[in-house]
Amino acid sequence: MKIAENGGVKYCVFENIEKTGLVSHSFTTKVGGVSEGVYGSLNVSYTRGDDRANVDENIKRICNCMEVESRNIVCGHQIHGKNILKVTKDDIGREGITEFDGFMTNEKGIVLSTFHADCVPVYLVDTENKAIAMVHSGWRGTVQKISLEAIKKMGEEYGTKAENIVAAIGPSIGQCCFQVDMPVIKEFKAAFDFADEYIIKDEKRVGHFMLDLWGVNKRMLEEAGVRDIEVTDKCTMCNEELFYSHRRMGNDRGSMAAYICLK
Ligand SMILES: [Zn+2]
Repeated sequence: MKIAENGGVKYCVFENIEKTGLVSHSFTTKVGGVSEGVYGSLNVSYTRGDDRANVDENIKRICNCMEVESRNIVCGHQIHGKNILKVTKDDIGREGITEFDGFMTNEKGIVLSTFHADCVPVYLVDTENKAIAMVHSGWRGTVQKISLEAIKKMGEEYGTKAENIVAAIGPSIGQCCFQVDMPVIKEFKAAFDFADEYIIKDEKRVGHFMLDLWGVNKRMLEEAGVRDIEVTDKCTMCNEELFYSHRRMGNDRGSMAAYICLK
């Protein structure tokens, strides 16, 4: 993953996704927008209390960087579930999409988008059938294996095979900062027989653990047959100059977005 810059806007791109030549994509940072205060400065969410005109301008800027149309963005209110919406042109401009934490399409020009401020973004590109998915996989989504759900649905709808998928795991909270307690650990152990490999004891706090969500998501994809997976090296909580973080900032913050669009 690298940080690109265009007209002052900083955004993350994945080399393996870029190399497919099939999509425009990015993961936004908080740098290069017009929002102020806790939203400073590239907040791309309308639902956090930021000024609407500023969010419009921020989205316009990142869309210019990606050379996509901001009016073609499809997004929704995420609920930490595992439902994947098959998106078509009819969904462009649709308000009130709820109950979906993942989107997929095989139509060109539609910008699939999920919001993030510590939760893991997973990008999926089927290079064979030219289909894509964008997935919001926080710890709840990860335990529910939402990325595998996306691959399964892409298989049903587009004929996708895991071996033809190029995947990326984007900026989110790293094992360095993701402290969890026993109930969360229990869910991971129940969901994954390899869970122990991605959990270490928190030396500073008894009964707490540090969980590697990047590792679990990567392993899950690998076991499903995905071979080309790029993983971020940027923790959203550590890198205060680049990212908003829910753990660091609470509710007074902006949001980053993950975008992907078939060219
Ligand atoms: Zn960290």
